[in-house]
Amino acid sequence: MQIYLVGGAVRDKYLGLPIKDRDWVVVGAQPQALLSLGYQPVGKDFPVFLHPETHEEYALARTEKKTGAGYTGFTCEYSPDISLEADLQRRDLTINAMAESSTGTLIDPFGGQQDLEKKLLKHVSPAFVEDPLRVLRVARLLARYAHLGFQIAPETFTLMKKLCANGELSTVSKERVWQELQRALTETQPWHFFETLYHCNAWPSLLPALDPADYQIFQQPQTLHFFQKACEQFTDSVQRLSAFFLTAVNYPVTSHANLAAQQKTKRLLNQLKAPRIYVEFSSFVAGYHTLYFDLLNWPAEHILAAFKQLHAFHQPQKLDQFIQVCGVVDGLYGSEIFTQMLLACRNVKSEHYLQRGFTGILLGQRIEEAQCAAIQQLLDG
Ligand code: ATP
Ligand code: MG
Repeated sequence: MQIYLVGGAVRDKYLGLPIKDRDWVVVGAQPQALLSLGYQPVGKDFPVFLHPETHEEYALARTEKKTGAGYTGFTCEYSPDISLEADLQRRDLTINAMAESSTGTLIDPFGGQQDLEKKLLKHVSPAFVEDPLRVLRVARLLARYAHLGFQIAPETFTLMKKLCANGELSTVSKERVWQELQRALTETQPWHFFETLYHCNAWPSLLPALDPADYQIFQQPQTLHFFQKACEQFTDSVQRLSAFFLTAVNYPVTSHANLAAQQKTKRLLNQLKAPRIYVEFSSFVAGYHTLYFDLLNWPAEHILAAFKQLHAFHQPQKLDQFIQVCGVVDGLYGSEIFTQMLLACRNVKSEHYLQRGFTGILLGQRIEEAQCAAIQQLLDG
């Protein structure tokens, strides 16, 4: 049996980037051969094994045959006769279809190295259109490598548009879409992911319940502009996504809490199956943006309600994150008053009222009154 390093590790090595995880292909072996060496089988549908010590993935060389619609409509064939080249041919991009032997020889039947030099994300073969997940993968890889000058090859982009037009993209599960989107948010230039998906018309398949008139939110120039600025200023993916929806849904900004923007953001993110932490923070930012630049005109009890909705008493860092996101859109205002207000509210101690005999609802009311008074004092000062 021969073992080759493949995929992202070879690509990143030739790009001179740190290697995150290593994938291996095994040629000329039966599953039994790996099992007897102590490898653990992990693949449900594919013959994939984990190395007994490194726990890296080793896959038997395989080919794929399209048998039905969507990204699960495949059967895979594996046998000791399948060559390395045949395995590389089923991969998405030429730069991902290179292998390295144990002696360090590069095997590159599809011109991956040349495309690395040309900085092109280019499909390996017309079979690219057999798996719609590749639309998301390519958009994400652009988000990762665009800062190095990479572009999507025009002929590959044509195939991506085809996958979006023929409905195949809507067969990708919501969970898988979210996984790619969430990964894209951690890349160097996440805005390329959103922009690419807009240009190949992927959003109608990804968010089918959305009103067609709303698809334009993904192309508003100011949305991408502020999203880019946000990504340049912070790396936290919850904050980054909130910056996207802030300008996508709530622009131009209305005065006072914008509950419609909050609801719409919530609906979109729930459709995307985003985890709660994303849904809550993004919808808060979209709804309460005005608080940032119009604080002095807000009634104290509304400010208190906003702090509570943000869970800022228990997680004060959320208030800082909110201020950072709004700052991208509005520029920097003095944020100390927010910190002072939060501190003043947290300094209202329940013991003080308990000792005076307040309990239950009355206790809650007394605490809120004291917190509002503390906020009002800072508003007046
Ligand atoms: P990363 O650095 O994010 O791990 P990667 O390219 O290694 O990038 P993996 O998901 O680890 O991505 O996949 C390993 C390899 O498997 C890819 O480089 C590619 O050759 C192949 N591959 C993965 N998913 C697909 C797919 N949907 N279609 C075709 N080839 C794929
Ligand atoms: Mg990998």
